[in-house]
Amino acid sequence: MREVCDLVVVGAGPGGIAAACRAAEAGLDVLVLDAQPEPGGQVWRGETRKKSNRLARRWLLRFAASGARFRPGARVVAAPEPGLLLVEEGASSLAVRYERLVLATGARERFLPFPGWTLPGVMGVSGLQVLVKDGLPIQGRRVVLAGTGPLLLAAASTLQAHGAEVLLVAEQAPAAQHWGFALQLWRHPGKLLQGAVMAAELLGVRTTTESWVLEARGERRLESVRMSVGGREEQLACDYLGAAWGLVPNLELARLLGCEIANGAVVVNDHMETRVPRIQAVGELLGIGGVDQALVTGELAGLAVAEQPAPEALMKSWQRIHAFADALARHDAPRAELRKLATPDTLLCRCEDVPLSALNECRDLREARLYARLGMGACQGRTCGPAAEALFGWSAEGVRPPCLPARIGSLRLPTETPTPSKRAS
Ligand SMILES: Cc1cc2nc3c(=O)[nH]c(=O)nc-3n(C[C@H](O)[C@H](O)[C@H](O)COP(=O)(O)OP(=O)(O)OC[C@H]3O[C@@H](n4cnc5c(N)ncnc54)[C@H](O)[C@@H]3O)c2cc1C
Repeated sequence: MREVCDLVVVGAGPGGIAAACRAAEAGLDVLVLDAQPEPGGQVWRGETRKKSNRLARRWLLRFAASGARFRPGARVVAAPEPGLLLVEEGASSLAVRYERLVLATGARERFLPFPGWTLPGVMGVSGLQVLVKDGLPIQGRRVVLAGTGPLLLAAASTLQAHGAEVLLVAEQAPAAQHWGFALQLWRHPGKLLQGAVMAAELLGVRTTTESWVLEARGERRLESVRMSVGGREEQLACDYLGAAWGLVPNLELARLLGCEIANGAVVVNDHMETRVPRIQAVGELLGIGGVDQALVTGELAGLAVAEQPAPEALMKSWQRIHAFADALARHDAPRAELRKLATPDTLLCRCEDVPLSALNECRDLREARLYARLGMGACQGRTCGPAAEALFGWSAEGVRPPCLPARIGSLRLPTETPTPSKRAS
């Protein structure tokens, strides 16, 4: 099957939705592809049904009315030539030709290995939050959260609201850095308010800085965690541990397309144009900045594609939010101790069972792939790649297709004729 359109947007999170709305409202033929079954991305997951978030509702309605076409369950797996994407949809595949492309592929959690991190009951901080929002029973369960930044508090607040007994929220950043970050939020009144609401919701929950997990223990599943809390060791019996340190952008497709990456983010100009002609990038790809950044950069990209001027207020928001993203990156940077938690037999790649000791002789990611099968499993290095980068400084440059696990057949150019696709809904 083939699709042809003016603008293709990859990712239907806030960034992709804002870009698609601006371009489609200006009359362009816009196609939005997302691996998920509904639009909304990570932060607005399930909001098409739940309708609990006013901002999400406003943008999802606008998206539905914009005229942009949406293909759910569409995973972009390769980009074999300029202007062409290969997409896998369930059991079939699709070739999509574009005039312009907006990348809005978002971010995922950063996992760092520690003894016991693969035990059942141990998961990401936001991953646990998502499971609970999707119905994982957590009432009365004892939970420890270890991570960094505002998402740690957001997860704690969700779990507490669903009846979990949150024993400890362990922020890795030193106290001075953490409170310094909190103080500069006066420049971002919306975020300050969000932070104050979460802090009020978490009154009575033990929250510490300069704290991290040392080890998860248990026979068949998690039974307890050993923590470093402000310089002292503690052991806590618990049912769940959420452990992840901030987010890392999903750069695989941008890398495959040849976009310039610096400091872990795609390099763009004020129109969100990458260094590759006809390709823009928005949202978390530009550095972790949250939903506001995703919306503002998405709008700027959509306006630029439609050749419409950007309102000055939008440009000012972008500059302000960019400064917030820089401050967040400094706050969330994993401290040195977190890179030394794994022991020789701790698995680094859980798909292929590769322990840290198997990498002793490897000098880079390529050798680790070739000789030890690091990152060669089902997740294609999406979990162990950023961990290897944090532990050894190995860069993930030189990504080869597919950028997501795919069937061999999806990498062939299909030859069938176009079929109509759904309107955004
Ligand atoms: C697990 C998790 C939970 C989070 N929870 C919260 C929260 O509760 N509150 C909060 O404020 N922020 C949360 N965030 C942060 C949030 O993701 C961002 O603030 C915001 O959603 C970024 O928007 P975005 O449009 O850049 O990307 P996203 O919202 O991440 O959207 C990216 C979209 O791209 C799609 N995609 C990626 N690659 C491909 C591909 N190759 N082919 C097709 N589709 C693709 C994904 O399926 C996804 O829907 C969370 C992040 C994560 C990772």
